[in-house]
Amino acid sequence: MDNCIFCQIISGQIPSSKVYEDDDVLAFLDITQTTKGHTLLIPKKHVRNVLEMDEKTAEKTFSKLPKVAKAVQKATKAKGVNIINNNEEIAGQTVFHAHIHIVPRFDEKDGISINYTTHEPDFEELAQLANTIQKEVD
Ligand code: 5GP
Ligand code: ZN
Repeated sequence: MDNCIFCQIISGQIPSSKVYEDDDVLAFLDITQTTKGHTLLIPKKHVRNVLEMDEKTAEKTFSKLPKVAKAVQKATKAKGVNIINNNEEIAGQTVFHAHIHIVPRFDEKDGISINYTTHEPDFEELAQLANTIQKEVD
């Protein structure tokens, strides 16, 4: 796609610091380096995000995640990694070519904080919601 930054990185029009490439995916360092080694894994096929991704593209992309994440962790000697994927603006997506963030973690004060609000479970409601979601799985 012409006006997509990540398609331009794939084609080489925009330079990037590549860490892995094959026929289906490209992994390169995120320009902002949230932590040292912050890497993006992207499918070469232009797809907006996971919500618009077909199973084949998902298979080709996500199957490479352990390989790249392990390499990032080993190279940076991180104690762990967060795997983050944002879908649509409300979820923090700013580049609309699907990508998976691999963010090495070094200590609690490395500038990243992921917090989830917790709610008291209403098991009746959970059962109904699970059922509603089940019906949408195709
Ligand atoms: P999002 O917020 O969509 O999940 O993440 C997009 C990411 O792409 C951001 O972390 C941003 O730093 C990164 N990014 C945006 N433009 C470029 C670029 O031109 N080169 C590289 N390497 N990363 C980019
Ligand atoms: Zn693209």
